[in-house]
Amino acid sequence: MSGLLEVIDVHRTYQIGDSTVQALRGVSVTIERGEFVAIMGPSGSGKSSLLQILGLLDNPDSGEYRILGQNVNTLSEDEQAGLRNNVAGFVFQQFHLLKRMNIVDNVRLPYIYSGIKGHFRKEAIARLAQVGLEKRIDHTPNQLSGGEQQRVAIARALVRDPLIIFADEPTGNLDSKNSAEIMKILKGLNEEGKTVIMVTHENEIAAYAGRVITMRDGVIVSDERRPGAALSAAVSGDMSFDAHAARNVAIWQDGRYSVFMAQAFQAILANKMRSFLSVLGILVGVASVIAMMALGEGAKASMEEQLKSMGSNMLSVRAGSAKIRGAAQGAGAVARFTFPDVDEIASRRDLVKNAAGVVNGAGRIVYGNKNWSTSLSGVGYDYGTMRAVTPTVGRWFTREEIQQREKVAIIGVTVVKQLFDNTNPIGKTIKINRINFTVIGIAPAKGFSGQQDEDDVAIIPVTTAMYRVLGRTYLSGIFVEVTSPGLIGQAKDIISSQIRKRHRLKADDDSFNIRDMTEIQQMLSSTTETMSLLLGAIAAISLVVGGIGIMNIMLVSVTERTREIGLRKAIGACRNDIMLQFLVESVSMTISGGFIGIVLGVGISLILSFFAGWAVKTSIISIVLATVFSAMTGMFFGLWPARKAAELKPVEALRYE
Ligand code: ADP
Ligand code: MG
Repeated sequence: MSGLLEVIDVHRTYQIGDSTVQALRGVSVTIERGEFVAIMGPSGSGKSSLLQILGLLDNPDSGEYRILGQNVNTLSEDEQAGLRNNVAGFVFQQFHLLKRMNIVDNVRLPYIYSGIKGHFRKEAIARLAQVGLEKRIDHTPNQLSGGEQQRVAIARALVRDPLIIFADEPTGNLDSKNSAEIMKILKGLNEEGKTVIMVTHENEIAAYAGRVITMRDGVIVSDERRPGAALSAAVSGDMSFDAHAARNVAIWQDGRYSVFMAQAFQAILANKMRSFLSVLGILVGVASVIAMMALGEGAKASMEEQLKSMGSNMLSVRAGSAKIRGAAQGAGAVARFTFPDVDEIASRRDLVKNAAGVVNGAGRIVYGNKNWSTSLSGVGYDYGTMRAVTPTVGRWFTREEIQQREKVAIIGVTVVKQLFDNTNPIGKTIKINRINFTVIGIAPAKGFSGQQDEDDVAIIPVTTAMYRVLGRTYLSGIFVEVTSPGLIGQAKDIISSQIRKRHRLKADDDSFNIRDMTEIQQMLSSTTETMSLLLGAIAAISLVVGGIGIMNIMLVSVTERTREIGLRKAIGACRNDIMLQFLVESVSMTISGGFIGIVLGVGISLILSFFAGWAVKTSIISIVLATVFSAMTGMFFGLWPARKAAELKPVEALRYE
């Protein structure tokens, strides 16, 4: 006849450093269904070792163990966990209740690992009523006496309605009155049909059992059934159990995931200060990234705005090679543009909206006793609208003024500041390169473009500049406004071939170049790209640093909760359950750090734009990225601690002090 539990010649040795302890040295025993067995013997005789093997918390080094007819050697770690969850209930000397949770949550804990959906609050309360604690359901373990705590532990052991109750010195920490109560409960359970296997070294406690096995030095020295102690009457029914099938529920299918979430928040909130400090790294990292990205985006947007105002369908044809911009390279190397060139370009009405010749030079301006050197531009009529320099104060040149080589000037605000001390310059006479000019307008302020002050200019008619001031017969370049930005490329090609034809240039001649704003745009966007890259690097570093902080705290947390992990494994948690629990915890921490960081980052950028007047633009992408990355940080840095937790052996974890 094969029993409920059957141990054959089991050995178990422990290795502590160099020495080995032989805890079990060939133990064979069979336990029938419905028995109440007490395992007795002096301290260190191997009682607990045997009970742990019987309860699947530990596996023998050699020998065979059959539970419910199944050879334990063929079961995987997780299958054993499933068996524990379904057929075993544990009661320990130290109770092993989870202090953070109230007693209802403690009692229903085994259900999380059962693969069955539901809340099981009713079941938990029913079990608590069975041990006389129905009035204490809102209490936490710390608010209960030792005896009451042990009764909660018994309720937890019973909640999955197990076949077998394993109890290791269940009354070891209790006074005699509480001990008697606990023993009465166990006795009652046995009478209802549960198999009870209990370790004790006290005779009064063993007296409740119907069978006493005595151990000494790792072997059984006596095994007595008490006269008159019958097997429990309630023994009946099917006692087969397929451990392989019981483990086939995917973690996501039952309600486990949401329970882990809830427990993660419980654990995080149980250590508020510590959790906050550990997410601080993530928080600061995410906040600064959001704020910096907002600043970067703002800068980029305002730059693009400026570019747009300059016209994105603008071409600039300059003499000289592209490498040496506008500078002469000696005779023959520079195309000499004249007004017929401008006219020819302007004649392509299908592509060209406007064309204006410009000549650039240096200008020395004198007004009263002040003088100022600035850059001088001689421009055509259409230049004003094309480059958006039509004055808002004063006026633009007339066509006649340009034709007649009139001595009228429009000056930039920097020049106004330098020469006029901010008094109105309109109508005043200034000298440009010793020639008298009348100021007719102030060019709209443009600010800086890189190092260059765009407002440090004097603009005069192109004819005046060429023939009266600079003494040149050639233009420095031609500005072309293409009818639409999409035609830029085509216009470039046409204009280029026009010029080559007129000037009889070879195809590879580089005596002129045509630039468009897209080039400048590309240059600027490559600058902002570098900036984004830099910000990205800072983000990565801060997230790594934050992640290390999280990992550190999770390792502490795993160590601190070793016994909790042991208990969870004892009641049926498999490796993935433990792993997931800690991963959910670290990811919750990093995500909440990320969220606070986002709020803070957005707040900082708003404050910067409000008080410092900086252009900011918070992008959805940066928020999404921050969230994703902080979650990934939690995942990555939580993995190792979570694995460490998952790999703990139930017995060792439970013994951890
Ligand atoms: P009992 O429960 O009868 O007091 P145990 O089964 O706990 O005895 O232990 C039997 C022997 O094995 C003791 O000498 C004990 O020190 C040793 N032992 C038990 N568990 C471990 C362990 N995890 N590591 C090392 N030695 C252990
Ligand atoms: Mg013991």
